[in-house]
Amino acid sequence: MRFVFVVFVLISSSLSGCFGSEELFAEERGRPGGLALACLQDDRFEKMNIHFLYESGYDPEAMDLVKTRLSQVCDKPSGIKIVAREVNFNEDNTWSAVDVRDARWKHGDDAMGSSTLNWYFLFPKGTYNDDSVLGVAVDASTVAVFKDSIEESENFLGRPSAEEIERAVTVHEAGHLLGLVNLVYTSPIDHEDPDHPGHSSNEDSVMYWAIESSSIGNIFSGSIPDEFDNDDKSDLQGMASGELKCSYQLWS
Ligand SMILES: [Zn+2]
Repeated sequence: MRFVFVVFVLISSSLSGCFGSEELFAEERGRPGGLALACLQDDRFEKMNIHFLYESGYDPEAMDLVKTRLSQVCDKPSGIKIVAREVNFNEDNTWSAVDVRDARWKHGDDAMGSSTLNWYFLFPKGTYNDDSVLGVAVDASTVAVFKDSIEESENFLGRPSAEEIERAVTVHEAGHLLGLVNLVYTSPIDHEDPDHPGHSSNEDSVMYWAIESSSIGNIFSGSIPDEFDNDDKSDLQGMASGELKCSYQLWS
């Protein structure tokens, strides 16, 4: 499918790091949340592939967990499939949002197949240009998780462990692709953290802001959430049913 290029700038400067805002987005690739309904509903896409592209030695920890979490909220009667592939990204070690998008569209394909929705999770070597960021969602179908930064963010007790942090970060970024929190809709529930737009104020939600921050090891000692909380789920149900109006959708 060919797309028309329309470029726009996200105005808000408060959305640092995690959405790769303050960057130019190509409209057809959309913004995080732009393919939320494509996942939550089955109107156009009955199947979904979750692609994990990872550098050698950077095997993702949370492939099954992401599939489980998406299966719990998305309507895909023909199933959700994991597609894992080792990739040599050939990048230097610092990634911008543009680099992540370029790498995904170089090594991956369109998000929208005939009846298949494709989301991409990249696990590159190196760090984001803001190395306090453990994961980013950069367009409607692309996220990256920075395992090198996750290793660094582990506290001296190793609780939570780097593996646990990675699982939470990966689900968190999937949550942004689903539009959480308030990225493409306005929740009737007051659960967005005013100090961290796009994130939950509930530290028991995987959408809590600190989940993707390198300060996570200082904020949590012990277990961390890797699930959406009831407010997140209520938002997703409202979007899926049409009760909540969604903006910026790429296909509906
Ligand atoms: Zn986030």
